[in-house]
Amino acid sequence: MFALVIKHKRIFSSLITLLAVLGLLTRAGAEQPTVVKLDFDYIRQGTAGVILLTGPDIAAAVASALDRTYPFFPTSQGFVCLLAVPMEQRIKDYPLQITVTRRNGSTATWEGTLKVASGQFIAEDPTQLIMPANKLNLLRDDVQQSEDTRLLNTYSLVTPVRYWEGMFTPPVNGPLSSPFGSFRTYNGTVTRRHTGYDFRAPAGTPVLASASGRVVLSRPLDIHGNNVVIDHGWGIYSEYAHLSERYVVPGQFVLQGDVIGLSGNTGRSTGPHVHWEIAVNGVWVNPLTFMQTKLPN
Ligand SMILES: [Zn+2]
Repeated sequence: MFALVIKHKRIFSSLITLLAVLGLLTRAGAEQPTVVKLDFDYIRQGTAGVILLTGPDIAAAVASALDRTYPFFPTSQGFVCLLAVPMEQRIKDYPLQITVTRRNGSTATWEGTLKVASGQFIAEDPTQLIMPANKLNLLRDDVQQSEDTRLLNTYSLVTPVRYWEGMFTPPVNGPLSSPFGSFRTYNGTVTRRHTGYDFRAPAGTPVLASASGRVVLSRPLDIHGNNVVIDHGWGIYSEYAHLSERYVVPGQFVLQGDVIGLSGNTGRSTGPHVHWEIAVNGVWVNPLTFMQTKLPN
């Protein structure tokens, strides 16, 4: 049985929410309900919303939306799910379904609506996006597709352990040079979406791990150049591109703030900068928005 749906911008600090949940859980003699709390009224393209399930006898849960499934993870405050919406998702309402398996093996399904809102993406100045003749192959569709597939396959593997705590932090302290999700036109003809957030940084700037985790990829790629990917667990990955040096190897555990390499201008890059990606459950999300996401421990 699902007893209540609470939509509130800041659920985890809401006293009213807490009282409502406690009231339900202590109701003598009643079947113990599962409470679904969404921390969003809508989710913008290229961002993730948080769902919290509480109830005493939840064994597992999964959310389904946008032809994807999203796992829940147990925490001291309940089961948590990060519902990531792709940047190219059409703006409209979609069905959202949550299926809970109880400890006695029974299942229950909650049905709601996921409203997808605009990611408010910009188009970048095409005069700044000129690839020289020796890098034209980096604009080929097949090169793009194979690199996207390689990274998204990596990002789609969900490690159920959580390796980090607290909030993610930026990899360098530099000004924005290009926002997440922007529409780009290279050499006046080839259009691409920006899958990360770019910081301007002189070549050789130390690049820091945004959160603790396990390195799963450290190698050169055609477009991303010298590249490091860190698995933080719970289906969350961070990625650091165009590096001049890499200091970590796959399998290595890093702590938040560890230097994983130096900034550079390798791959499809038009000047020294750090391209920083965050992916959740195989979906690129806005790293700046993700940094502000509060999750229960
Ligand atoms: Zn970038």
